[in-house]
Amino acid sequence: MILSEQKPLEEIQAYLEKDKSVFILGCNGCAQSSGSGGPKQVAEMKDKLTAAGKIVTGTKVIDFLCSKALVKSGLRGRVDQVAAADSVLVLTCGIGIQAVAASINKIVYPGCNTVNMGGTRGEWEGSERCNECGQCLLFHTGGVCPITACTKSLVSGACGGANKGKCEISKDRDCGWELIYNRLKAKGQLNRLADMIKPLDHKKIMPRPEMMSTPLYALENIAKPPAPPAPPAKPANTVKEVKA
Ligand code: SF4
Ligand code: SF4
Repeated sequence: MILSEQKPLEEIQAYLEKDKSVFILGCNGCAQSSGSGGPKQVAEMKDKLTAAGKIVTGTKVIDFLCSKALVKSGLRGRVDQVAAADSVLVLTCGIGIQAVAASINKIVYPGCNTVNMGGTRGEWEGSERCNECGQCLLFHTGGVCPITACTKSLVSGACGGANKGKCEISKDRDCGWELIYNRLKAKGQLNRLADMIKPLDHKKIMPRPEMMSTPLYALENIAKPPAPPAPPAKPANTVKEVKA
């Protein structure tokens, strides 16, 4: 499971500041289990945004937003509602948000941050990757993750070393920032390149103390030498001394 939690409403409203209308997408997989993007949270978000004066053109909860095939098939009956919206707000993990941004020709905003649970998860079959940074930046980058798409995880733009679209570190890899540029251009959002992205908060990237009980951390604990046995406790003096 990938753990996500909703971004503060003020942050979401700031994303939507210039938009009159929005379509809300949720996920019946991990986001539903996380309590961040299941049917309940999507309905609540619709109410909050409607109360804030936005037109919600429609909502949909799809089984697994991390699958581009399921995103496309799940939205087949909602094409008009999506088309009528200025943007799509996605309540799920970073992989799901990236998959939606890659699947539809619409501006996509992240409604959640993906939280580092500690430990490892299996390799995902799609090309999207999330490093669970706890401060999802996909609003600024057209839905391409700068932390996983750029070899150096640069969040403030390209290093300048790319050659013919390939990364200077590995010629087999596309330059992540070129992917971001192309995505923003395709969505008419090149103005996002002027965003000043705050430096990453590395405390949010680390697993939280309460997450340290995953199998990986348990194995690390097993490897530690056992603690020395405690000294025997003194027996309580329950017999009264009798004077002769
Ligand atoms: S910015 Fe990237 S690493 Fe951070 S939560 Fe979003 S998708 Fe995941
Ligand atoms: S060439 Fe592109 S992907 Fe590679 S480190 Fe520089 S900005 Fe990142």
